[in-house]
Amino acid sequence: MDKKNPLGIKLKANEIVTPETLAEFTNGRGLNDSENSPLVNFTRISPNSTNPRRNTIQKITIHHVAGVMSVESIGAIFASSARQASSNYGVDNSGRVGMYVEERNRAWTSSSAVNDNQAITIEVSNIAVGGDWPVGEVALAKTIELCIDICKRNGIAELNYTGNTNGNLTLHRFFAPTVCPGPYLESRMPYIAEQVNKALKEDEIVTQEQFNIMMDEWLRIQREKPASDWAAPEIEAARALGITDGSNPQGLATREQVIAMVVRSIK
Ligand SMILES: [Zn+2]
Repeated sequence: MDKKNPLGIKLKANEIVTPETLAEFTNGRGLNDSENSPLVNFTRISPNSTNPRRNTIQKITIHHVAGVMSVESIGAIFASSARQASSNYGVDNSGRVGMYVEERNRAWTSSSAVNDNQAITIEVSNIAVGGDWPVGEVALAKTIELCIDICKRNGIAELNYTGNTNGNLTLHRFFAPTVCPGPYLESRMPYIAEQVNKALKEDEIVTQEQFNIMMDEWLRIQREKPASDWAAPEIEAARALGITDGSNPQGLATREQVIAMVVRSIK
Protein backbone atom coordinates (compact mmCIF):
# COMPACT_ATOMS: atom_id res chain seq x y z
CA MET A 1 0.00 0.00 0.00
CA ASP A 2 1.22 3.46 -0.92
CA LYS A 3 1.34 5.34 2.39
CA LYS A 4 1.01 8.73 0.72
CA ASN A 5 -2.04 7.58 -1.21
CA PRO A 6 -3.56 4.69 0.76
CA LEU A 7 -6.68 4.51 -1.36
CA GLY A 8 -4.66 4.36 -4.58
CA ILE A 9 -6.68 7.16 -6.15
CA LYS A 10 -5.07 8.20 -9.42
CA LEU A 11 -5.91 11.78 -10.26
CA LYS A 12 -4.99 13.90 -13.23
CA ALA A 13 -3.36 17.29 -12.57
CA ASN A 14 -5.81 19.72 -10.93
CA GLU A 15 -8.50 17.05 -10.67
CA ILE A 16 -10.66 17.24 -7.57
CA VAL A 17 -11.79 14.19 -5.60
CA THR A 18 -15.55 14.00 -5.89
CA PRO A 19 -17.81 11.72 -3.82
CA GLU A 20 -18.09 9.58 -6.97
CA THR A 21 -14.31 9.25 -7.42
CA LEU A 22 -13.97 8.42 -3.76
CA ALA A 23 -16.78 5.85 -3.85
CA GLU A 24 -15.07 4.16 -6.79
CA PHE A 25 -11.93 3.65 -4.77
CA THR A 26 -13.52 2.83 -1.43
CA ASN A 27 -15.88 0.14 -2.64
CA GLY A 28 -18.93 2.38 -2.42
CA ARG A 29 -18.10 3.76 1.00
CA GLY A 30 -18.21 7.53 1.32
CA LEU A 31 -15.91 9.60 3.50
CA ASN A 32 -18.16 9.44 6.54
CA ASP A 33 -19.12 5.80 6.29
CA SER A 34 -17.58 3.76 9.04
CA GLU A 35 -16.31 0.28 8.29
CA ASN A 36 -17.40 -0.73 11.78
CA SER A 37 -20.66 -0.27 13.63
CA PRO A 38 -21.51 3.22 14.90
CA LEU A 39 -23.29 1.43 17.78
CA VAL A 40 -19.95 0.53 19.42
CA ASN A 41 -19.53 1.96 22.97
CA PHE A 42 -16.31 0.20 23.91
CA THR A 43 -13.33 -1.01 21.87
CA ARG A 44 -10.55 -3.35 22.94
CA ILE A 45 -8.90 -4.97 19.93
CA SER A 46 -8.01 -8.62 20.46
CA PRO A 47 -4.77 -10.11 19.13
CA ASN A 48 -6.79 -13.22 18.20
CA SER A 49 -7.84 -12.58 14.61
CA THR A 50 -6.87 -13.25 11.01
CA ASN A 51 -6.28 -10.00 9.15
CA PRO A 52 -7.83 -9.32 6.74
CA ARG A 53 -10.79 -11.70 6.43
CA ARG A 54 -10.68 -13.81 3.26
CA ASN A 55 -14.31 -13.37 2.16
CA THR A 56 -16.85 -10.60 1.96
CA ILE A 57 -19.25 -10.25 4.88
CA GLN A 58 -22.45 -12.16 4.10
CA LYS A 59 -23.38 -13.92 7.35
CA ILE A 60 -23.98 -13.20 11.02
CA THR A 61 -23.25 -15.69 13.80
CA ILE A 62 -24.77 -15.02 17.22
CA HIS A 63 -23.16 -16.62 20.28
CA HIS A 64 -23.81 -16.48 24.00
CA VAL A 65 -20.95 -15.88 26.43
CA ALA A 66 -22.17 -18.64 28.81
CA GLY A 67 -22.09 -16.16 31.66
CA VAL A 68 -23.21 -12.71 32.75
CA MET A 69 -20.57 -10.33 31.42
CA SER A 70 -20.08 -6.67 30.55
CA VAL A 71 -18.52 -5.66 27.22
CA GLU A 72 -15.39 -4.77 29.21
CA SER A 73 -15.07 -8.23 30.77
CA ILE A 74 -15.63 -9.92 27.41
CA GLY A 75 -12.85 -7.68 26.02
CA ALA A 76 -10.53 -8.66 28.86
CA ILE A 77 -10.92 -12.36 28.01
CA PHE A 78 -10.28 -11.81 24.30
CA ALA A 79 -7.26 -9.61 25.10
CA SER A 80 -5.31 -12.70 26.14
CA SER A 81 -3.51 -14.32 23.21
CA ALA A 82 -3.43 -17.58 25.20
CA ARG A 83 -7.23 -17.66 24.92
CA GLN A 84 -7.10 -18.09 21.11
CA ALA A 85 -10.64 -16.72 20.87
CA SER A 86 -12.39 -13.50 19.94
CA SER A 87 -15.51 -12.07 18.32
CA ASN A 88 -16.16 -9.03 16.17
CA TYR A 89 -18.69 -7.64 18.66
CA GLY A 90 -20.11 -8.23 22.12
CA VAL A 91 -23.42 -7.08 23.63
CA ASP A 92 -24.09 -6.81 27.37
CA ASN A 93 -27.13 -6.43 29.64
CA SER A 94 -26.88 -2.62 29.66
CA GLY A 95 -27.32 -2.71 25.89
CA ARG A 96 -23.71 -1.69 25.33
CA VAL A 97 -21.75 -2.88 22.29
CA GLY A 98 -18.10 -3.85 22.45
CA MET A 99 -15.80 -4.30 19.46
CA TYR A 100 -12.86 -6.72 19.68
CA VAL A 101 -12.11 -7.47 16.02
CA GLU A 102 -12.79 -4.95 13.27
CA GLU A 103 -15.27 -6.04 10.62
CA ARG A 104 -12.63 -6.24 7.89
CA ASN A 105 -10.84 -8.93 9.94
CA ARG A 106 -11.83 -12.48 10.80
CA ALA A 107 -12.60 -13.16 14.43
CA TRP A 108 -11.93 -16.59 15.96
CA THR A 109 -15.39 -17.35 17.31
CA SER A 110 -17.33 -20.20 15.72
CA SER A 111 -14.78 -23.07 15.39
CA SER A 112 -15.04 -22.63 11.61
CA ALA A 113 -12.68 -20.60 9.47
CA VAL A 114 -15.07 -20.96 6.52
CA ASN A 115 -17.92 -19.45 8.53
CA ASP A 116 -15.99 -16.76 10.35
CA ASN A 117 -14.31 -15.50 7.18
CA GLN A 118 -17.83 -14.73 5.89
CA ALA A 119 -19.51 -13.79 9.17
CA ILE A 120 -19.67 -10.97 11.64
CA THR A 121 -19.70 -12.74 15.00
CA ILE A 122 -21.49 -11.39 18.06
CA GLU A 123 -21.07 -12.60 21.67
CA VAL A 124 -24.20 -11.83 23.72
CA SER A 125 -24.22 -11.83 27.52
CA ASN A 126 -26.69 -14.07 29.31
CA ILE A 127 -28.91 -12.61 32.02
CA ALA A 128 -28.59 -15.72 34.20
CA VAL A 129 -26.23 -18.68 34.27
CA GLY A 130 -27.33 -22.19 33.27
CA GLY A 131 -30.78 -23.58 32.51
CA ASP A 132 -31.76 -22.57 28.99
CA TRP A 133 -29.11 -19.83 29.15
CA PRO A 134 -31.54 -16.90 29.03
CA VAL A 135 -30.69 -13.57 27.40
CA GLY A 136 -32.38 -10.37 28.63
CA GLU A 137 -34.69 -8.14 26.60
CA VAL A 138 -32.19 -5.25 26.53
CA ALA A 139 -29.35 -7.38 25.17
CA LEU A 140 -31.67 -9.07 22.67
CA ALA A 141 -33.01 -5.73 21.37
CA LYS A 142 -29.48 -4.34 21.01
CA THR A 143 -28.36 -7.51 19.22
CA ILE A 144 -31.20 -7.06 16.71
CA GLU A 145 -30.26 -3.39 16.25
CA LEU A 146 -26.64 -4.39 15.66
CA CYS A 147 -27.68 -7.03 13.11
CA ILE A 148 -29.77 -4.45 11.23
CA ASP A 149 -26.78 -2.09 11.15
CA ILE A 150 -24.40 -4.86 9.99
CA CYS A 151 -26.77 -5.89 7.19
CA LYS A 152 -27.31 -2.31 5.99
CA ARG A 153 -23.63 -1.38 5.89
CA ASN A 154 -22.56 -4.65 4.27
CA GLY A 155 -25.36 -4.90 1.71
CA ILE A 156 -26.93 -8.03 3.23
CA ALA A 157 -30.49 -7.83 1.88
CA GLU A 158 -32.00 -10.42 4.20
CA LEU A 159 -31.14 -12.63 7.17
CA ASN A 160 -32.23 -16.18 6.56
CA TYR A 161 -32.37 -18.60 9.51
CA THR A 162 -32.71 -22.20 8.29
CA GLY A 163 -31.54 -24.05 11.40
CA ASN A 164 -28.49 -25.28 9.47
CA THR A 165 -25.52 -23.88 7.56
CA ASN A 166 -27.59 -23.14 4.44
CA GLY A 167 -28.84 -19.87 5.93
CA ASN A 168 -26.80 -16.73 6.54
CA LEU A 169 -27.74 -16.53 10.23
CA THR A 170 -25.57 -19.27 11.67
CA LEU A 171 -24.85 -20.77 15.10
CA HIS A 172 -21.66 -21.98 16.77
CA ARG A 173 -23.47 -25.28 17.41
CA PHE A 174 -23.48 -26.01 13.65
CA PHE A 175 -19.68 -26.24 13.64
CA ALA A 176 -18.65 -27.73 16.99
CA PRO A 177 -20.00 -29.90 19.83
CA THR A 178 -21.28 -26.98 21.94
CA VAL A 179 -24.70 -25.78 23.12
CA CYS A 180 -23.72 -22.22 22.10
CA PRO A 181 -25.78 -20.02 21.73
CA GLY A 182 -27.87 -21.97 24.29
CA PRO A 183 -31.51 -23.12 23.96
CA TYR A 184 -33.04 -19.72 24.72
CA LEU A 185 -31.11 -17.68 22.14
CA GLU A 186 -31.42 -20.47 19.59
CA SER A 187 -35.21 -20.38 20.01
CA ARG A 188 -35.16 -16.63 19.30
CA MET A 189 -33.32 -16.93 15.94
CA PRO A 190 -36.48 -16.93 13.74
CA TYR A 191 -37.69 -13.85 15.68
CA ILE A 192 -34.32 -12.10 15.30
CA ALA A 193 -34.30 -12.76 11.54
CA GLU A 194 -37.91 -11.55 11.25
CA GLN A 195 -37.22 -8.30 13.13
CA VAL A 196 -34.07 -7.60 11.12
CA ASN A 197 -35.80 -8.29 7.79
CA LYS A 198 -38.77 -6.10 8.73
CA ALA A 199 -36.40 -3.20 9.41
CA LEU A 200 -34.44 -3.80 6.20
CA LYS A 201 -37.66 -3.80 4.16
CA GLU A 202 -38.95 -0.59 5.75
CA ASP A 203 -35.75 1.08 4.71
CA GLU A 204 -36.02 0.17 1.07
CA ILE A 205 -36.01 3.24 -1.09
CA VAL A 206 -38.58 3.48 -3.86
CA THR A 207 -37.19 5.28 -6.90
CA GLN A 208 -39.34 7.65 -8.99
CA GLU A 209 -39.26 5.08 -11.78
CA GLN A 210 -40.54 2.31 -9.47
CA PHE A 211 -43.19 4.65 -8.06
CA ASN A 212 -44.42 5.50 -11.58
CA ILE A 213 -44.80 1.80 -12.38
CA MET A 214 -46.71 1.20 -9.15
CA MET A 215 -48.92 4.25 -9.75
CA ASP A 216 -49.71 3.13 -13.32
CA GLU A 217 -50.62 -0.31 -12.00
CA TRP A 218 -52.90 1.17 -9.32
CA LEU A 219 -54.63 3.39 -11.90
CA ARG A 220 -55.10 0.38 -14.19
CA ILE A 221 -56.75 -1.60 -11.39
CA GLN A 222 -59.13 1.30 -10.66
CA ARG A 223 -60.05 1.64 -14.35
CA GLU A 224 -60.93 -2.04 -14.63
CA LYS A 225 -63.33 -2.04 -11.69
CA PRO A 226 -66.97 -2.36 -12.79
CA ALA A 227 -69.50 0.36 -12.08
CA SER A 228 -71.10 0.29 -8.63
CA ASP A 229 -74.75 -0.80 -8.56
CA TRP A 230 -75.90 2.50 -7.09
CA ALA A 231 -74.31 4.49 -9.95
CA ALA A 232 -75.52 2.32 -12.82
CA PRO A 233 -78.76 4.28 -13.60
CA GLU A 234 -76.93 7.65 -13.70
CA ILE A 235 -74.12 6.26 -15.87
CA GLU A 236 -76.72 4.88 -18.27
CA ALA A 237 -78.55 8.25 -18.31
CA ALA A 238 -75.30 10.16 -18.93
CA ARG A 239 -74.43 7.80 -21.76
CA ALA A 240 -77.88 8.33 -23.34
CA LEU A 241 -77.37 12.11 -23.16
CA GLY A 242 -73.92 11.84 -24.80
CA ILE A 243 -72.09 13.18 -21.70
CA THR A 244 -69.88 10.13 -21.32
CA ASP A 245 -69.37 6.79 -23.05
CA GLY A 246 -69.54 5.18 -19.59
CA SER A 247 -66.16 3.47 -19.81
CA ASN A 248 -63.77 3.11 -16.83
CA PRO A 249 -66.49 4.10 -14.34
CA GLN A 250 -64.15 3.90 -11.30
CA GLY A 251 -61.10 5.42 -13.02
CA LEU A 252 -59.92 8.91 -12.10
CA ALA A 253 -61.15 11.78 -14.29
CA THR A 254 -58.67 14.40 -15.57
CA ARG A 255 -59.62 18.08 -15.61
CA GLU A 256 -60.06 17.92 -19.40
CA GLN A 257 -62.47 14.99 -19.09
CA VAL A 258 -64.43 16.84 -16.40
CA ILE A 259 -64.59 20.00 -18.58
CA ALA A 260 -65.79 17.97 -21.58
CA MET A 261 -68.53 16.30 -19.50
CA VAL A 262 -69.68 19.58 -17.92
CA VAL A 263 -69.84 21.36 -21.29
CA ARG A 264 -71.68 18.41 -22.92
CA SER A 265 -74.19 18.38 -20.06
CA ILE A 266 -75.14 22.08 -20.46
CA LYS A 267 -75.40 22.00 -24.26
ZN1 LIG B 1 -20.08 -19.68 20.68
